Amino acid sequence: MSTALTLANALVAQQFGQQAGELHIGGVGVHALVAAHGSPLYVMDKYILQQRHAALRAALAGFAEVYYSIKANPQPAVARVFVEAGSGLEIASGGEFLLAKAAGCAPEHMLFAGPGKGEDELRLVMSEGIGDIHLECFEEVAVAGRLAAELGRVQPVALRINPSAAAQGGAMRMGGKPAAFGFDEEQMAQAVQAVLAWPGLRLDGIHLFAGTQVLQAEVLLQQWRLGLGLASQLAQLLGRPLQRIDLGGGLGIPYHPGQTTLDLDAVAQGVPALQQLQRDDPWLQGSGVLVEPGRWLSGPAGVYLMRVRAVKQSRGQRFVICDGGMHHHLAASGNLGQVIKLDYPLVAASRMDDTELAPAQVVGPLCTPLDTLGRQAQLPVATQAGDVLAVLQSGAYGLSASPVGFLSHAMPAEVMVADGQHQRVRAAGSFAEPLVNLM
Ligand SMILES: *Cc1c(COP(=O)(O)O)cnc(C)c1O
Repeated sequence: MSTALTLANALVAQQFGQQAGELHIGGVGVHALVAAHGSPLYVMDKYILQQRHAALRAALAGFAEVYYSIKANPQPAVARVFVEAGSGLEIASGGEFLLAKAAGCAPEHMLFAGPGKGEDELRLVMSEGIGDIHLECFEEVAVAGRLAAELGRVQPVALRINPSAAAQGGAMRMGGKPAAFGFDEEQMAQAVQAVLAWPGLRLDGIHLFAGTQVLQAEVLLQQWRLGLGLASQLAQLLGRPLQRIDLGGGLGIPYHPGQTTLDLDAVAQGVPALQQLQRDDPWLQGSGVLVEPGRWLSGPAGVYLMRVRAVKQSRGQRFVICDGGMHHHLAASGNLGQVIKLDYPLVAASRMDDTELAPAQVVGPLCTPLDTLGRQAQLPVATQAGDVLAVLQSGAYGLSASPVGFLSHAMPAEVMVADGQHQRVRAAGSFAEPLVNLM
């Protein structure tokens, strides 16, 4: 049996369930879900969202607050779960500001990050009282400073700093090398002077984000340690401790064989040393610390369901052709910046008990070989048109990170399940819709 299947089976056993060969999500069978809401379909399990938020908050208790980075899954019904659990939201556009408001988040509990914020976006969030803006370049400092004066407002801001050294181990390292994000650490003093020139900007925070998809607790803790060191340096430049130290997101989840689960207990065990570091440094005392993960909070709660439309043999290979694909789930096709294309965990959701398996290429309906969601899939020999397949770990960087206009297919519905109930939180589109949108 392939190790990919082992990861998928472990996820099913830990988070979902099966009855009579059918995958259940939040106590609801996949047949009932696609019968009620159509296919393809995104399903989010509310209980998993709540439980992950609670687990992370407990692991960081007394050290850091948890914000949710809404770009991982901007569906307001998803963000609302975290807001109701007491979380703030990290946004990175004017559109995300509106989604965050739709999710019930007060502007004071939002932070605005991103490398090229528009003046219109800054005007909107500042006029509505956003809690913090993370400034990332000199032009942005000037625009925010001018807007603060115009709006007669004192705007809390933070500097996003691109560290000169970075802990190794994330899939994408965002420190220690040239980057569009933030000010280089070497420019920190200059950036402070630039902000201090504007009376309407109150510099009282730092933002660091050194890498995404970190699976080793030690790497994460090391990044956070480096972050506290930089916060101390910034405080010394300012001559007073900061209000907020934002240590970023980047907590990873396993997608592929050989990837481990981030050990949250090991993270929790590293927290007292960080607290000690903060107590021992007068420049860090009294600062509030926060983290802003996206993927770790929402990824495991999401499942992308699709129906098989055809099974075809071509020159010795079996192709399972589905109604869903990369237009809804680019990341699962391996085309969202992945260097090596590896399969997401995928299961035969309507034949969970079948033991006779064989290799299959799982492809979508788009006219491009890029539209492949399973290259090393092991699926039941009996797989046929009408079966339901499930792509797991699909709750982050799914629909909103996909080229939904490519090939002009309909948008899928999104559903939230909880306690055996399912509620549609976004209606499916129709294939007539692109005609309206493009003409
Ligand atoms: C994308 C992003 C995050 C979330 O990253 P994850 O890897 O999903 O945790 C957090 N903060 C900022 C500024 C981001 O751009």
